[in-house]
Amino acid sequence: MRVLILGGTADARALADRLVADGVDVVTSLAGRTTGPRMPAGDVRVGGFGGTSGLTGWLSAQGIDAVIDATHPFAATITGHAADACALLGISLLRLVRPGWAGHPDAPTWHWVADHAEAARSAARLGDRIVLTVGRQPLPSYLALAGCDVLARVAEATGDDLPPRWTVIAERGPFALTDEISLLRDFGAQVLVTKDSGGPTAAKLDAARVVGARVVVVSRPPAPAGVESVGDVDAAVAWLRHRQS
Ligand code: NAP
Repeated sequence: MRVLILGGTADARALADRLVADGVDVVTSLAGRTTGPRMPAGDVRVGGFGGTSGLTGWLSAQGIDAVIDATHPFAATITGHAADACALLGISLLRLVRPGWAGHPDAPTWHWVADHAEAARSAARLGDRIVLTVGRQPLPSYLALAGCDVLARVAEATGDDLPPRWTVIAERGPFALTDEISLLRDFGAQVLVTKDSGGPTAAKLDAARVVGARVVVVSRPPAPAGVESVGDVDAAVAWLRHRQS
């Protein structure tokens, strides 16, 4: 069985490592956005497929039997393409997506918003010392906050021209609670903005409570209809074993 893992996450990497150790023929696909990405076991290909039609052609040409979409919960475009391509070809598709933070004890106190534009408006109402942990790509949606003191943490800095009152730091998680408390406290954060990414970067949410910062959470984009989904690597491995037997 030849399996495509759509990757770019720690879970995708862990899944590839597990499946390769089990003797499965795995190819992981990375978008190619990150410099020096951590590589999974097995074959790796890098770069976009060229939309749904490109992905459909690639899956056929490579003789892929099953696809596990382990991309980030906010990578909605590739997730939609995978759903459409697999439906067209009749290939089994699983979405591996870690649970979000709606079950966190503080979740009812957070400001849940639908998108980044609404997050920017909400943050502006809540304070003017704002920490953005939404990634690099959405930063243009926050330019309405040009008059605020903003600390934007991204995995990889860019040469983007950002407002003079903004500071960008490039760091990759996971982050320890004590470090997150120091980050928010040293900056004097009044507001923390995050996506509902789920997983191990939750320490910032606990830190926000400790320092008394308000939290704005961007809700996940909707999942494609009719695609089976699991929340952890073990369940994805079990799904594939069931298909192999
Ligand atoms: P996206 O908006 O859903 O996808 C945009 C385009 O990038 C897709 O149409 C596809 O190009 C290409 N692409 C995305 N993921 C790919 C993959 N795994 N392999 C090959 N091509 C891929 O994705 P995104 O939000 O920019 O995220 C890009 C990658 O970074 C994803 O793999 C994701 O797992 C990872 N990541 C994203 C976030 C986030 O917050 N969005 C956070 C951490 C990691 P074509 O149409 O040409 O095929």
